[in-house]
Amino acid sequence: MKHILILLLSAISSISFSQVSASSDSLSANMLPVRGFCIAAPQSKGVDEFVKFINEELAPRSVNTLILRVDYNYQYESHPELRDSSALSKSDVRRLVAACNKNKIRLIPQVNLLGHQSWAGKIGNLLKAYPQFDETPLVKMPEKYVWPNADGLYCKSYCPLHPDVHKVVFEVIDEICDVFETDAFHAGMDEVFYIGEPQCPRCSGRDKAELFAGEVRTLRDHLASKGRELWIWGDRLLDGKTTGMGEWEASYNNTYRAIDMIPRDVIICDWHYERPDQTPVYFAMKGLSVITCPWREPGTAVTQAQDMVRFRKSATPEMKGRYLGMMQTVWSDAGQFLDSFYGRRSERSANNPANCFKALFSEIGKLQASGN
Ligand SMILES: [Zn+2]
Repeated sequence: MKHILILLLSAISSISFSQVSASSDSLSANMLPVRGFCIAAPQSKGVDEFVKFINEELAPRSVNTLILRVDYNYQYESHPELRDSSALSKSDVRRLVAACNKNKIRLIPQVNLLGHQSWAGKIGNLLKAYPQFDETPLVKMPEKYVWPNADGLYCKSYCPLHPDVHKVVFEVIDEICDVFETDAFHAGMDEVFYIGEPQCPRCSGRDKAELFAGEVRTLRDHLASKGRELWIWGDRLLDGKTTGMGEWEASYNNTYRAIDMIPRDVIICDWHYERPDQTPVYFAMKGLSVITCPWREPGTAVTQAQDMVRFRKSATPEMKGRYLGMMQTVWSDAGQFLDSFYGRRSERSANNPANCFKALFSEIGKLQASGN
């Protein structure tokens, strides 16, 4: 839903859109182990200002985890055919890594895998270069994208059972993790609508929960072989119909049963943008570590932070460690967010990501100061 909201907005305006190695010994016992921020990686020309933002805004708020959605905004050497036309260089990334190291911020790159292989009417770089990986090759990209549409096209997916897809995906993961010097990778995997489709000769008729869980395990095992963690969004593991959360924020195509099939060391980023849903308890009771992620409603984010602290306080010792913390998510690009944050662009509503970020970290500061 985070994306569909933006899609709807786009239609009427031009808005585009460790295990914290909880070396928290030095932190108070109840301090949230993950205090995160997630945003699209800046463009090359925006790296300097973003480094300033890390130094002057993230670090003083004790943000300790930064997820940068890179996708193909990097000059991949293993796969130059996947690069965006303008993409970060190795030295750009090294400046981001250095800023995070200096401020003891864990830096995690994200590349959207499985779903989100197209956006609106535009095919993503992976399927553009490798159309054979498309789960729904018969669904053509429309001239003018509208939702809903007859194909049920939200975003394209790659076929998780294509025999050649993981060679490419693993090379992309390895290269981006190496250049980010990281021990974790975020694979996205949210809002997967096309999975186990009748038109796919490999997936047709298979259990969608098993297909989803199989892809999670494949990515997790590859990362684990190099000592790295897998992080994903949590929405495919929630039951949309029974909970009333709908088909973006949760699953309407039965992938939710995968919650009992994926490895327990996958980190769940549980996004809820309009209500402080109590789903972290569900994930933690399933043995999964979870981070609550707000977007643009300061009031919701403040309640979610209070909830997270309360969950940790009232939990059994077994459960407590799974309530990892909070992460602000931003779905515009980094440049637009900084324009808003620094007041160079006016917002139509006080419910915007810049205000949400400020309110969330102000609340986390208060909760920690009060000994929570
Ligand atoms: Zn398939």
